[in-house]
Amino acid sequence: MSDRLYYQDAYQTRFRARIVERVEEDGLIAVVLDSTCFYPTSGGQPADRGTLNGRPVADVFVRDDGAIVHLVEGELWSDEVTGEIDWQRRFDHMQQHTGQHILSQAFIRVAGAGTVSFHLGDSSATIDLDNDRLQAQQVEAAELLANRIVWENRPVRVRLVSLAEAQQLDLRKLPDVPGDVVRLIDIDQFDLNACGGTHVAHTGEVGMIKIVRLERQRGNLRATFLCGGRALLDYRQKNSLVNHLSATLTTGADQVEESVSHMREELQAARRQLRHQASQLLDYEAERLLARATPSDGLRIVRGAFTDRDPAELRALANLIAAAPGSVALLGSGGQRTQLVLARADDAPGQMDQLLRQLLPLLGSSGGGGKATFAQGGGPGAPAERVEQVLARAEKLLLAQR
Ligand SMILES: [Zn+2]
Repeated sequence: MSDRLYYQDAYQTRFRARIVERVEEDGLIAVVLDSTCFYPTSGGQPADRGTLNGRPVADVFVRDDGAIVHLVEGELWSDEVTGEIDWQRRFDHMQQHTGQHILSQAFIRVAGAGTVSFHLGDSSATIDLDNDRLQAQQVEAAELLANRIVWENRPVRVRLVSLAEAQQLDLRKLPDVPGDVVRLIDIDQFDLNACGGTHVAHTGEVGMIKIVRLERQRGNLRATFLCGGRALLDYRQKNSLVNHLSATLTTGADQVEESVSHMREELQAARRQLRHQASQLLDYEAERLLARATPSDGLRIVRGAFTDRDPAELRALANLIAAAPGSVALLGSGGQRTQLVLARADDAPGQMDQLLRQLLPLLGSSGGGGKATFAQGGGPGAPAERVEQVLARAEKLLLAQR
């Protein structure tokens, strides 16, 4: 079994070791060392990165037999290696992981909410709490308590005890890994928990703990949080976003929310007005088209071909025309797509659905349908002139139907 150097000292970044096994895996060299500083993916924490004899380490994991396998890009000629871990990544994981212990204990103290799982991702970390009914004030109180523990810069000690001893202690959670020795992370007079991860030596190194999102999930409450460097990066981005919005809206940062909500109300009012005016315009258009159509035998046929007209608008126009007694609307739109809308007043003659079936083949389409008083269909794009010809044909067919 490899000696896990990170168990004793999370701050050690360089080490010398001997390769005790080498195999090839997915075109990469996989090596097992007699000792290593590389933390393998486990316990919700991702693996370290770094180098072995200058070659990049692509991944580190624990094999079924417990050996720690390092996947290396490139050749390792010597059996003696010098390893170096990516400290920035390691320290980030130490901040997030220690922050998680503090936050989990803070939720117990403030709301009696236990942590059922923890995940540390590349940009954020989450804990799932066993109570999805927490109030906003409880969450804020837990966040504040967690940060107080950070500010108090309490020592974080690592202790090894027997399993029997661990069972006597007031641990947040007993380890689920087999073995007689249990590794405890002891945050001075605040939290005691079994954990195999990497942690900072004093809580002050966590920097700060910020909860950024809460989601209810199957009876649990998932809290996404950021610690230390990640919290700073997030603050930087959000600060720059607010400053940018504030400059765009020419208002103070504390007025941005009010300003956006005011703009939204104005936009809604403008949209309402636009809808009202569009509807008035359509009424006027329908009247104008009806006035232009010459009645014959008490029947007024309104024909109109347009280009790229909104289908909903075309339907509304047809319905307005057909609302006038003795009227028939034969409307169409060409352009990107072809639309035909045929409508008639209840007292006008003609079978609109039948008429549409006769017309659609002329436009190379078969998509559409309707009833005796209203039918619509569409097809591939065509110029408005073509649509006009089809509508002229529609008028002839309609008059022949009588
Ligand atoms: Zn831990």
